[in-house]
Amino acid sequence: MGVLDGWQRCPRCGGPLTHAPGRVECKTCGFVHWAHSSPAVSAFVTDGQGRVLLGRRAHEPDAGLWDALGGFLDEGEHPLDGLRREVLEETGLTVVPGPFVGAYMDTYGAETGAVPVLNLVWEVTVAGGEAQPADDVSELRWFGRDELPPDGDVAFRWLAPVLREWIVGLAG
Ligand SMILES: [Zn+2]
Repeated sequence: MGVLDGWQRCPRCGGPLTHAPGRVECKTCGFVHWAHSSPAVSAFVTDGQGRVLLGRRAHEPDAGLWDALGGFLDEGEHPLDGLRREVLEETGLTVVPGPFVGAYMDTYGAETGAVPVLNLVWEVTVAGGEAQPADDVSELRWFGRDELPPDGDVAFRWLAPVLREWIVGLAG
């Protein structure tokens, strides 16, 4: 089931859409849309003592669960700019991106209508500011490697195993 499967009308002119593998086309106005994953960025914020800063999600999906800080990129936004913007919006902290952790696939939203997501993850360090939960985050907390919340309290499928493997290698 692809995101475009249910698309029947051109979002630009309302004409009928033709489906092809991985894309839809409107023969009326020339609109073409390719199926893709939505790019998102996540920050594993470290404090130099082997701990990671997580935020409790204020809204669905996965409201109340612990999540890495971050979010979806804006149109045309460089991922590192998006990373700094999202952490600042959610915590008030300015951060410096460090090593790239990896790229992880997941979905976002309810089973029907879920969109595929490409998560790009960096380790980051704090450059300034006082951590205060804001925007989509209701609570912030530092977790050591032996203090991570149980998997059932961690948002999204990709995050818990990646976080556990990454934090073991963290200096502190
Ligand atoms: Zn059209």
